Amino acid sequence: MDKEKTKGFIAAYLKLSRKTLKGKIRSAEEILKSCTLCPRNCRIDRTAGKLGFCKTGDKPFVSSYNPHFGEERPLVGSHGSGTIFFTHCNLGCLFCQNWTISHLGEGSIILFEELAGIMITLQNYGCHNINLVTPTHQVPMILKALEIAIDKGLNIPIVYNCGGYESLEALKILDGIIDIYMPDFKYSDPDAALKYSRAKDYPQTAKAAIKEMHRQVGDLIIDDRGVALRGLLVRHLVLPEGLAGTEEIIKFITEEISPNTYTNIMAQYYPCYKAVSLPPIDRMITNEEYRKAVKAALDAGLKRLDRL
Ligand code: SF4
Repeated sequence: MDKEKTKGFIAAYLKLSRKTLKGKIRSAEEILKSCTLCPRNCRIDRTAGKLGFCKTGDKPFVSSYNPHFGEERPLVGSHGSGTIFFTHCNLGCLFCQNWTISHLGEGSIILFEELAGIMITLQNYGCHNINLVTPTHQVPMILKALEIAIDKGLNIPIVYNCGGYESLEALKILDGIIDIYMPDFKYSDPDAALKYSRAKDYPQTAKAAIKEMHRQVGDLIIDDRGVALRGLLVRHLVLPEGLAGTEEIIKFITEEISPNTYTNIMAQYYPCYKAVSLPPIDRMITNEEYRKAVKAALDAGLKRLDRL
């Protein structure tokens, strides 16, 4: 496992000139006027009060924030990962575990200064990173708050913790800002992606997005405390009946990204929201289904597995 000392680490966004950062904020805000921030391409003017699939306007919309100790070990370290849960989502997963936030819109619209203050509070708690949970549809707001937070002394890496349904246009704006990308790779089958997340183009879109993320930050680098500094971390949730298409996803990660990709094969699927009455996703996965997924990863030669 790649390890390096923390000493000398500088968060990517602190290496950007202020002019470049401001340019990125402007580009992101411009996209909101005919929104193509994610692959849904709703093309509505969010600055004029119109709402697209993600039901989010042009202000930060946040559900909660806290030091989180349930994330992957390299994110948690000794003081936790500074999670900020953003309200609503650009995916429509029928089994979402955070469905009250993503589907029902639990949360509050807050000021940019407040979002910046949350980042600083999490840093002051000692968190090792700012972990943006479901950030895709709120990128412009996050960048605007980040500029304020930088002025207040923010200096820890930012984790972009997303569903993997990302536009290359938005990812290019994030180049040089994000240190750690943590996308899900949910499905390899377009029909499953359509049925369970309302996104038929998810597989090809996630592949292109993860390639771009890896191009920007490379394999995950972990320091001598065991804390992630920079790189890619992929999450894959195993679904009942092989619906996630685990083998194809593992093959893609190993062959087209890197066999050193830090990959979390997750076993914790349980039916939530609409999935409780939607066979075959109305049950947890079996030990055998999980064992098969891990075996596929080991057989493919994936070297950095986070698993049960
Ligand atoms: S971010 Fe929201 S409004 Fe914009 S394209 Fe995606 S779903 Fe539509």
